[in-house]
Amino acid sequence: MFPASFEYVRAHSPDEAFDALQKHGYDGRVLAGGQSLIPAMRYRLARPAVLVDINPISELSYLKEEDGFLRIGATTRDAALEFAPWVRERYSLITSVSAVVADPIVRHMGTVVGSVCHNDPAGDWTATALAARGVVVIRGKEGLREVPIDEFLVDSYTTAVEEGEMALELKIPIPDARTQGSYQKIERKVGDYATCAAAVQLSLNEDGTIRQAGIAITAAGPIAMRVAAAEAMLIGQRPTLELLRAASEEAPKIATPNADQRGSAEYKKDMTRVLVGRGLKQALERLGAVSA
Ligand SMILES: Cc1cc2nc3c(=O)[nH]c(=O)nc-3n(C[C@H](O)[C@H](O)[C@H](O)COP(=O)(O)OP(=O)(O)OC[C@H]3O[C@@H](n4cnc5c(N)ncnc54)[C@H](O)[C@@H]3O)c2cc1C
Repeated sequence: MFPASFEYVRAHSPDEAFDALQKHGYDGRVLAGGQSLIPAMRYRLARPAVLVDINPISELSYLKEEDGFLRIGATTRDAALEFAPWVRERYSLITSVSAVVADPIVRHMGTVVGSVCHNDPAGDWTATALAARGVVVIRGKEGLREVPIDEFLVDSYTTAVEEGEMALELKIPIPDARTQGSYQKIERKVGDYATCAAAVQLSLNEDGTIRQAGIAITAAGPIAMRVAAAEAMLIGQRPTLELLRAASEEAPKIATPNADQRGSAEYKKDMTRVLVGRGLKQALERLGAVSA
């Protein structure tokens, strides 16, 4: 199908994009990589009257470390993270996600910021940002504001970005040497959305106890969810396989997946347990820290 007709604004600076969004209010919509928005428009699930194309804004295409954060600009493609050697070396969670989001074509067009703004219930980047304690920088009427990802993700396809606003970047705290992550995704075929997936990031204290835990599941409810009870269970503890098993049991308690062509609700619920368990184990193996 063809989309309903719309007006197209090509923005060349964040100011131009913001002004256009302010002018058109709810009628306006940011066009980033178009990998979710354009299909939604073609199926007429979305009918924005005005598309504000931010792709010409080269100053929003960056991937850099600054002030303790990895900063991912609003027009930075997924592929930029996948192919940056320094990201591969130091960001094990991001590295295990970036090659399993969709397929290479989508990853060369889609943006990480666009994905968190889209907030699909099965999104890979939303769960990742939750586990990594991401922060989204939003340009609003009053200037810039920083919103922790837990508050940013409001409901399916709904975020803290309000009428006339735009997200400028996603910030991920730089992991220290005692932090490792893992992304575990099951999909029907390569390039598919997750049947279910789990993002995990663990940080250890010098004495080997767990300092920080980030655990999130996706495709397991209306929105990617932090498994807070599992995180709390791990903090301050010495990692053992028994503890990891107990923590992974917390995931199905909060999962509310729908049955669909990818599997029954019972199957998906149980997979949240399995994938969180595998993610925790892999993160700890990467830290060289699992004991029986
Ligand atoms: C074949 C296919 C397979 C896919 N498989 C997966 C998958 O396995 N996992 C997965 O997570 N995703 C998957 N996707 C979805 C896709 O990867 C992401 O949703 C997409 O990359 C979103 O980024 P985008 O830049 O394309 O956003 P767009 O499609 O341009 O925008 C998406 C939404 O976010 C808003 N938006 C974008 N940028 C901003 C901004 N800076 N400020 C405010 N609002 C903004 C738009 O207005 C729109 O509402 C798949 C898509 C396709 C086509």
